[in-house]
Amino acid sequence: MALITCKECGKEISDQAASCPHCGAPVKAASVAPAQQQQMNYQQQVAAQQKSQQKSMMKTMLFSTLISTALSFVSRLFYRRW
Ligand SMILES: [Zn+2]
Repeated sequence: MALITCKECGKEISDQAASCPHCGAPVKAASVAPAQQQQMNYQQQVAAQQKSQQKSMMKTMLFSTLISTALSFVSRLFYRRW
C-alpha cells in the first residue's frame, strides 16, 4: 500500500482507495493506467511519425519529378529557339 497524490485536490491518499476520500475523485483508474497509456501514446506517436515521413517522402518525390519535367520542357524550348 502506498500513498499517492490526488489529481483533483492534491492531498495524499491511499492507492488502494477506489476514490479520493477528500474530494471523491476516482483513483484506481488513474493510478493503474498511466504506464499503459504512455506506451499507447508512444506507439501512436511512432505511427504518426512514420505517416508524416511517408508523406514528406511522397512530396519530395513529386517535387523532384515536377522539377525534372519542367527542366526537360525548358531545355526543349531552349533547343528549339537556338
Ligand atoms: Zn482528492
